[in-house]
Formats: sequence, C-alpha cells, structure tokens
Amino acid sequence: MDYVVLTAGALLAAVGLLALAARRSAVRDDARPPDGTLHDSVPDAAARFDTLLEVIPAGVVIVEPPGRITAINSSAAKMFGIAPERAVGRALIECIRSYELDRRVAAALAQGVEESAELTFIAATERRLHVTTRAIDRGDGRREALVVAIDRTRMMELESMRRDFVSNVSHELRSPLTAIKIMTETLQGGVDKAASKEFLDNISRETERMIALVEDLLDLARLESGKLDLKFESVDLGDLIRDVVSSQASRAAKLDVRLDALVHDGGVTIAGDRDKLVQVVVNLLDNALRNTPAGGSVTAAVGRSDGKAYLEVADTGTGIPSEALPHVFERFYVVDRSRAKSKGGTGLGLAIVKHIVEAHGGTVEAQSELGRGSVFRCTF
Ligand code: ADP
Repeated sequence: MDYVVLTAGALLAAVGLLALAARRSAVRDDARPPDGTLHDSVPDAAARFDTLLEVIPAGVVIVEPPGRITAINSSAAKMFGIAPERAVGRALIECIRSYELDRRVAAALAQGVEESAELTFIAATERRLHVTTRAIDRGDGRREALVVAIDRTRMMELESMRRDFVSNVSHELRSPLTAIKIMTETLQGGVDKAASKEFLDNISRETERMIALVEDLLDLARLESGKLDLKFESVDLGDLIRDVVSSQASRAAKLDVRLDALVHDGGVTIAGDRDKLVQVVVNLLDNALRNTPAGGSVTAAVGRSDGKAYLEVADTGTGIPSEALPHVFERFYVVDRSRAKSKGGTGLGLAIVKHIVEAHGGTVEAQSELGRGSVFRCTF
C-alpha cells in the first residue's frame, strides 16, 4: 500500500512541477517576440511535459474551475474508458461518471484539499484505481486540480489469486494429513490385522496423493518462474504418443476403455523437451481415462493442420459443462470437487499442460460436450 502512496506522491510532485514549468513556459511564451528567438529552452519544457504525460503508466487528468478537463493523458483515457480528444473541454463528471472523484476534485479546487483513496470505476470493465487529487497553483492566483490514478486492478487480482492459491494448497494438504492422523491414532490404539492392513493401505494412498500434489506444485512453480530447463531435441510426436499409450494400456484395459494412438500425415516431428511433452500426454490421457466410463474410448492423435503440428487427446467420456470449460486450465480448478476427490485429481494437471505447451511456443484448447466427451488439442 505504502509504495502506491509513495509512487502517487512522487508522480504528483513530478507532474506538479512539470505542470508549473509548462504553465510558466506558456506565460513566457506570451512575452516571446514573434521571431521566436528568445527562450529557446522554454518550449522544451512544455514538450517534455507532454511527452512525460504520454509515457507514464499513471493516469493524469488536469481540471480547471469549475470542473472542466484541460488535459488528460492516454493512460487516464484508457483507465476511465474515454477518448482524450472528446474529454478535453468537457466537465469532469460528464466524462468520468464518479461523484466521489468529482467531490474530491471540487475540494481540491475550492479548498486546496489533497486526498488519496482506492476507488472503483466501472467503464468497460470494473477497475480498482488508487486516486490522488491535489490542487496546483497556476501561478496567476488560480488553482487547477491534478488527478493522478494508478491502476491497481491487476495487483488486486494477483493478490486474490495468491490468497486462493495458499488456501487451496492448505486445504489440499490438510485433508490427507487429517485422515493420516486419525488412522495413525487408531492404529496406535490397537486394531486387528485386517483393519491394520486397510489403514496402512489408506495411509500409503493418502501419502502418495500428497507427494503427487507437491510434485505438481514444484513443477508448476518451476514452469511459472521460467526456471525449468527445457532440453530441446527433435521429438517424433508419433513415437511419443505410441510410447505413452502403451504405458497406459493395462490401466485402460482394467477400466474397460479402448485406448488408441493415431499417427496422421506420416508422423510429425517437432523441436521440444521429450520428457515434458510426455508429461503433457500423460496428464491428458490420465484425465481422459479418469473421466471415461467403461465401454468408452480414448484416442491420442498427432498430425498436421494448417501447416502446424498438433497433438490431441479425445475421449467419449463425461464431458465438461460449458460454464466450466473456460476455467479448466486454471490452477486448482476442478469441475466436480466431490468426484475429483474419489478420482484423485488435484486440479493442477491441465495448468501444467498449458505451461509446458506454452513454453514450447504452442497453444492448447479444449472442446467438450456434456455426456459426449472432450477433445484437448495442443498446437505447435
Ligand atoms: P485434475 O488433476 O483434478 O484432473 P486438471 O487440471 O487436470 O485437474 O483438470 C481440471 C478439471 O477438468 C478437473 O475437474 C477434471 O476432472 C476436468 N477434466 C479434465 N480433463 C477432462 C476430460 N477429458 N473429461 C472430463 N473432465 C475433464
């Protein structure tokens, strides 16, 4: 929070000083002889002021009494969703429909009051802005109000994502840990041989789930921080899907799901990290197998389309509801939490897939129809 106030303060000071310099230059411009030979450096101040206003990421609006916009930079225009050329000369309240901002600007103009606050503005989308209003002396006895706005929307989104992330991880770890604690205490209390075996099996399963979760988290952290060392080599995607499909064959047979690898266009080779691409296919096949009931089928395919290589996993399973589809690549997003628990999902598999594919310069998209199946296609 403090840095926002400091940044806003520093910007205000800088913009205020430059505004004054520009004002003075304008005053001196009036006194300049028509040949323009005097005060060569003076127009520079105004030009510098304009350039500064255009390049700073903070929104700056200057308002003169009784509340008319005299200048607005493009950052402010973007933040408030208005066209700069239409804003200059118009009343602030007509352009930026915020009574809160109008009141603050009026206080700055009338009493020289300086205020800072987080305000919410609704233009095309809702934005959270840290807004500082301050009076500046024009040098001719009149005041102008300076509005400096810093967009905190993305920061707030990231803060909320971080909070969600911590709470998701804690929740995902707490459940198996609680189960393990209860089972261990029961074992310590003494149980018969059969129950003891069941408890130990459960403890082992819960521990594996936690290890898988922590490994997924570490993978994701490495992918997100860009620290993951991708070892690029020439990878035959056809061979790759055949290998992964054969490693999953016995599992598919047990589930009574038909599993095939299809290689179109005589095979496709790309430059990539083989182990990471294997992880992509394993995650996609794992999801497909987990979500396809007995009697269904899962197909991994590679080929070329529009001159690009693609790798696709299609299934005839449960499908994904259309409202859930845009979220499946988000960390910890699971379509049906109660089902995911029994099926062992952590909600990280597709986030990892997306990161790996993007680290290869590719894209991944999902199509699905509820009750009919899903297709996940990676394009490189
Ligand atoms: P998880 O590890 O829980 O499967 P993912 O990130 O891999 O997490 O998937 C996110 C959500 O999308 C999960 O709830 C998962 O069940 C759902 N999902 C992913 N792939 C499929 C699929 N092929 N069919 C149906 N649902 C799927």
